[in-house]
Amino acid sequence: MRDLLPYLKLYRKHWFGLTLGMVLALATLFASIGLLTLSGWFLSASAVAALTIARETFNYMLPGAFVRGFAIGRTAGRWGERVVSHNATFKLLTDLRIFFFSKLAPLIPGRVSGIRDADLLNRLIADIDAMDHVYLRLISPIIVGAFGIVGLTVFVCWFDMTLGLTLGGILLLMLLSWPVLFYKLGKRNGHDLTQNKAQFRITTLDWLQGHTELTLFGAEKGYRDAIFAAQDKLLQNQYVNAHFGGLAQALLLLVNGWTLALIMWLSADGVGGHPPDPFIAMMAFATMASFELLMPIAGAFQYLGQTLTSARRLNEVILSEPDVRFSQTPTEHSGEYSIEFEQVEFAYSDESAPVLTNIDLAIAPKQQVAILGQTGSGKSTLMQLLTRYWDPQQGQIRIAGKPLTEWSESQLRQAISVVSQRVDILNGSLRDNLLMARPDASDDTLSEVLASVGLEKLLDKPGLDTWLGDGGRQLSGGEKRRIGIARALLHNAPILLLDEPTEGLDKQTEQQIMALFEQHFVGKTVLFITHRLVNLEKMDAICLIEQGEIVEFGSHQQLTEQRGRYFELTQTLV
Ligand code: ATP
Ligand code: MG
Repeated sequence: MRDLLPYLKLYRKHWFGLTLGMVLALATLFASIGLLTLSGWFLSASAVAALTIARETFNYMLPGAFVRGFAIGRTAGRWGERVVSHNATFKLLTDLRIFFFSKLAPLIPGRVSGIRDADLLNRLIADIDAMDHVYLRLISPIIVGAFGIVGLTVFVCWFDMTLGLTLGGILLLMLLSWPVLFYKLGKRNGHDLTQNKAQFRITTLDWLQGHTELTLFGAEKGYRDAIFAAQDKLLQNQYVNAHFGGLAQALLLLVNGWTLALIMWLSADGVGGHPPDPFIAMMAFATMASFELLMPIAGAFQYLGQTLTSARRLNEVILSEPDVRFSQTPTEHSGEYSIEFEQVEFAYSDESAPVLTNIDLAIAPKQQVAILGQTGSGKSTLMQLLTRYWDPQQGQIRIAGKPLTEWSESQLRQAISVVSQRVDILNGSLRDNLLMARPDASDDTLSEVLASVGLEKLLDKPGLDTWLGDGGRQLSGGEKRRIGIARALLHNAPILLLDEPTEGLDKQTEQQIMALFEQHFVGKTVLFITHRLVNLEKMDAICLIEQGEIVEFGSHQQLTEQRGRYFELTQTLV
């Protein structure tokens, strides 16, 4: 149960709506029980009165008015309760989603890289939805039930102590035992159901996302079968669930029937020591109606297993500590954007071998450095350390003389423009995809930048409104890369990090982009990862990385004269 604590704490903010919901539920319950109880008494009392002298004096107006009042009260109460409690739970869910998201965001990418996208989506949607059961299905019915039992017991005791205590005792026993019984019964199935639901979504999304590839390799059927297998398991869980639900209702009715027989037997000789009279009918109807307050909890507790599993799945995320923590206050720095790596060592996990070791690198402000190295040598990782995608296990990285840990997140993002190796296109218009880099840019600026990276073609109708991403216009690899470059140009930060920006572009476009860079590099500190040995003589320095270590650093001229690895590379590629 402790797993639910972080979520229960969120209830505090909505206490008013949630409590009002319960008060209205209680009022509805009383109206409902009152209606049946009073009607039972009224009908039999009228019948008895009609047969006796009392027909002259029997006041049927007052009970009649109460019956009507209870009926209206029950309808109005139920309506009010639904509106108030659902409103409160929706608000609660909104808060929950925001709360979960705010905990999730700092964990990306380090802590959640082990969780699949589909699984994360499932946690964000289904598992959070399961949390609203806690109030609607568990807490509210139990509290309302407890108050209802006390009220009803007092009411019946007023007429007859034995009957009141018997009925109250049975109801209380049910209220305490039913949840435990059905929680235990449904626990395992509920746990499996939550896991299988997640599995079903994961397999479906896998199949959907990889459909083209799977079809091409003839592997589509296997993945489709995995969906069916997951679906079968889920259906089986739901089937068991429905059975438990039915069982809970059936057993409750059975107990209700036996209790009714008991109460009638106890009251057969008269209620409260009086000779038999219409109060017997009232007691019988009160007993029948009283089980209404147990109805909501009959099958609800079999869902507790599901809810707890969901809570645990959410806790895996929200209780994780982020690997990277940004300073809350911006740092004071010189404004001269130098970059220094000092004895940096980094491994992706504690178990794996370091990807970067002994990195010592000093880049002066406005210096332009090319980074070369074989694939997998750690170039992109080096850049990701600068953006604090990850933090190094050892050593320190400084920008403008200040350790990265002292920079606030927005300050660091302002200072760095990145063209990453894999450019992500968001599901949105072309305009949205560019504005993320500079939200205040005008359409004219956007068009200008697009033209400068050679994407005039995208400006044809519908132009900046063109929908990109899933369900929109698909872009070629080269076009995506140019969108990435356009974003970096728009962002226009003093430090520019480029991860193979011209990969996948033809020679002519590459020249065009390089010329554009030359224009933009001016006055900026630049780190330029490339596999292509073009224009390197124009860079201030070249840094050669091999297997996670810097093996050569110097200008094109120096390294060529040194006749080391760089020289060999230029020779083999010429
Ligand atoms: P390329 O030229 O192919 O882009 P790179 O020099 O940029 O290569 P990195 O992407 O930095 O290479 O990767 C360095 C090493 O770290 C590789 O062996 C890679 O498999 C590993 N690696 C990269 N990202 C991760 C990750 N998220 N988790 C674990 N290992 C990773
Ligand atoms: Mg790379």
